[in-house]
Amino acid sequence: MKILVQKFGGTSVSTHERREDVVNKVIKAKKDGYFPVVVVSAMGRKGQPYATDTLLSLISDNFKVKNKLACDLIMSCGEIISAVVLSDEISKRELHAVPITGAQASIITDDNYNEASVINVDPKKLFEIIGSNKIPIVSGFQGISKSGFITTIGRGGSDVTAVLLGNALKAEKVEIYTDVDGIMTADPRVVADASLIKEISYNEVFQLADQGAKVIHPRAVRIAMNSNIPLVIKNTLNNSTGTIISNSIMENQDRIISGITSVNNRVQITVKYDENPQNKNYFNLFDELADNLISIDLINVFKKQKIFTIDNKDIENFKIVAESLGLKYSIVEECTKIALVGNGMRGIPGVMANILKILAKENIQVLQTADSHTTIWCLVESRFENTAINALHKGFGLSEN
Ligand code: ADP
Ligand code: MG
Repeated sequence: MKILVQKFGGTSVSTHERREDVVNKVIKAKKDGYFPVVVVSAMGRKGQPYATDTLLSLISDNFKVKNKLACDLIMSCGEIISAVVLSDEISKRELHAVPITGAQASIITDDNYNEASVINVDPKKLFEIIGSNKIPIVSGFQGISKSGFITTIGRGGSDVTAVLLGNALKAEKVEIYTDVDGIMTADPRVVADASLIKEISYNEVFQLADQGAKVIHPRAVRIAMNSNIPLVIKNTLNNSTGTIISNSIMENQDRIISGITSVNNRVQITVKYDENPQNKNYFNLFDELADNLISIDLINVFKKQKIFTIDNKDIENFKIVAESLGLKYSIVEECTKIALVGNGMRGIPGVMANILKILAKENIQVLQTADSHTTIWCLVESRFENTAINALHKGFGLSEN
């Protein structure tokens, strides 16, 4: 049985016209000899009546924080509505569809409401539906805890649902349909001439997704990588071939950088070792930050100073910790961490030098850098984010022409 999981994101199911395109993709899968299993997100973006953020705006912030369980219940409705509406439209085309919730599809999670982790997926129900020659339309982004309450699995979670189902059903592949042609060399909203990446390795996509490219959820990439399921990212609106993600490609890729992405809302912190009086707390700083659930990155430790970044939301907490330890620090607010990702940079000298040269030409000061085998990060002030990304994109030859 050749099963194909097809996931459609929020904009893909937002209007009747878009859903017609979705139905055409499902019919095409059938014609190609697959048994399609469809996963849907909530319809549209904030402001549209059944989008996740709209549903959330119906309850107060205070209630949200205190009643995570209720919050999950209202959030799960968006995908349920979407599944039923799409099933209706599929049925009009002489096919039988069965809309089901994550819970009905036996997606079992822990009870970490709002950000639950999936523990197990029992594909029995889905196989039953497929076996009766019907198309399951599964509500993404949700499951049910062992104690029987509806949970959601974090923003962008429908991608995760799709890959988990692909794994449980031993699907041939998982197709993620969205509003762009596939994975691009940069977010097309930031770089107008970003180009489509036709083939890319799981590792590179994971790095891009993890470092801010929201086209796919990083957890979905990791699960697909571990279970070796081919993933394809495609545009619902056209017939472009999209981006194929797998491990069987790119051994000899000739590009150094595959894509560029960024995370903003970072704050750069420098903590100075105070020799007089010798403050021993300097050595406990990272433990204290961890105890206070402040995560740090771009960490550089020197004899007399520690430099790192935190998320903007942690800044007040950081100040409380640093002051309670009696440490001196300085802060640069509103920073952006740009990541250049590419398996091809491994062992190639001069990549960092080139990055610095490109940014210097634009008079952009680099506040910090870090690198791994396949990613180079540089921290810049957020007001330079767009200029920096565009300059790097061009400088590394990623622009289309
Ligand atoms: P969906 O609702 O279909 O899940 P998302 O909004 O989550 O869609 O993801 C698609 C968006 O991701 C695109 O509209 C695009 O702006 C953004 N994006 C960010 N980085 C990239 C990238 N490198 N390639 C493609 N799209 C990207
Ligand atoms: Mg998404």
